[in-house]
Amino acid sequence: MSTPPAMLHPELLADDNPHGIFRDGRRLDHAEGASKPLRSRPEPQPRGAKVHGNRPIDQEEAAARFIAAPEHEKMHDERLWDLRQKRDREMHGIAEWEELRSLASAIKEHTLTHLDQYLEQFEDNARSHGVRVHWARDAAEHNQIVHGILSDHSAKSLIKSKSMLTEECGFRHYMASVGIEVIETDLGERIQQLDNEDPSHVVVPAVHKLRTDVAEVFAKTIGTDPANSDVHYLAEAQREATRPLILAADAGMTGCNFAVAETGTFVVCTNEGNADLSANVPKLHIASIGIEKIIPRLEHLAVFIRLLSRSALGSPVTQYTSHFRGPREGGEMHVVLVDNGRSERLGLEEFWTSLKCIRCGACMNTCPVYRRSGGLSYGATYSGPIGLIIDPTFNQRKYSNLPFASTLNGSCTNVCPVKINIHEQIYAWRRVLVERHETPLAKRAAMKAAGELLSRPAAYRVAIAAADVALAHLPRFVIYNGLNAWGRHREVPHPPKQTFHSWYQANRGGKP
Ligand code: SF4
Repeated sequence: MSTPPAMLHPELLADDNPHGIFRDGRRLDHAEGASKPLRSRPEPQPRGAKVHGNRPIDQEEAAARFIAAPEHEKMHDERLWDLRQKRDREMHGIAEWEELRSLASAIKEHTLTHLDQYLEQFEDNARSHGVRVHWARDAAEHNQIVHGILSDHSAKSLIKSKSMLTEECGFRHYMASVGIEVIETDLGERIQQLDNEDPSHVVVPAVHKLRTDVAEVFAKTIGTDPANSDVHYLAEAQREATRPLILAADAGMTGCNFAVAETGTFVVCTNEGNADLSANVPKLHIASIGIEKIIPRLEHLAVFIRLLSRSALGSPVTQYTSHFRGPREGGEMHVVLVDNGRSERLGLEEFWTSLKCIRCGACMNTCPVYRRSGGLSYGATYSGPIGLIIDPTFNQRKYSNLPFASTLNGSCTNVCPVKINIHEQIYAWRRVLVERHETPLAKRAAMKAAGELLSRPAAYRVAIAAADVALAHLPRFVIYNGLNAWGRHREVPHPPKQTFHSWYQANRGGKP
């Protein structure tokens, strides 16, 4: 019997990582090390936020359920922090890292402020290679265009590599409604598809799952042994189950990481080579491209390629960086350029730079709220810090709670390879949502009362003194009850005997 491969994702393995988990002298890979050994009754996987039409997503409630599953929370936190540390190591290995970030930011800002010109240049050049270019105003138009192309070819099955844009468009659901089978080719995305869940992270879609969760999903859907959660066994079983579907598919679909205006070509980065399968096995290749993915010149690509994988997974480069130029012999290539709210976002003075995002996920990996609450708790296509600033542009009411799911510590901004001022935009969204009355009445009333108190120093000092006395003397049940959401997970600190203000008055007589 051949020896199983040592790991699933070589880039995730670093022998000198002090946080690595070793067994029999071997550093366990990402998936093995992050999950606990199989117990007789694995901890059930916490599910994501409950979505009720247009009603605001209760991220707090879903996060509380994730936190209440300690194995999942610990694994998720450690797994993502591991990625953050690897990213830091890669960053320290590149002396010009900050210059690269500034350059990437400048290229994106320049492109976004000349977007019409570069999009037309891309279209002309792509057409000159025989690519058929379509324009989609929104998700519905995108889905209809792709459906039309598939119908013209009597295609009934489509293999697809990971694309957040198609998630935005509700593409799989639409295709199911018109009787076309979609098969995800990215392993994590396929796990999520089989489990009927959305991706919980832009780079590692099933990162919130223990391997026992995956074993359960595969046992139900592809007939694996439910008691076997060995990652190599599971990956191989899924490969065996999916490969025949890939070989028989009528059409293939990819997303796009970067589209180069001067050449009319586009680039897809993966670690599994699955985009190449989607693009090259069937003769019909459709690529869905968000209009913000344009960069002007091929030489600019090098800047982003150096930043992308290092920021995402802490690896120097993705295993595959595939360039697509035109249809293969006897085949057809279609590109769908999708707006879906991007032009409108471009006009938002405080939020347009969120379009610089290259979907590396670094802001998610570093965010303490995201790491402890899981991506599905956001109930939106985009989660974590970038989600907090993109999601409200799709629906302010539905995602009105999200910008409050942040500590505003600024770590997201510090790691962002294209220098988006994420935490400032989160803060700006809070203001906008309050001004537009999109926040719950209780929150608005509490903020108004706090604002009144903080703007009156004398009243504030009296209130603090009264609170100190209350905290020191009131019975515990009066402080820690259902009305004190803050105290549900924390102890209120013991009040000091003397505040700095009263000490200053007593010792300096109020003089500077
Ligand atoms: S906002 Fe920045 S850090 Fe977050 S996913 Fe986008 S590019 Fe990466």
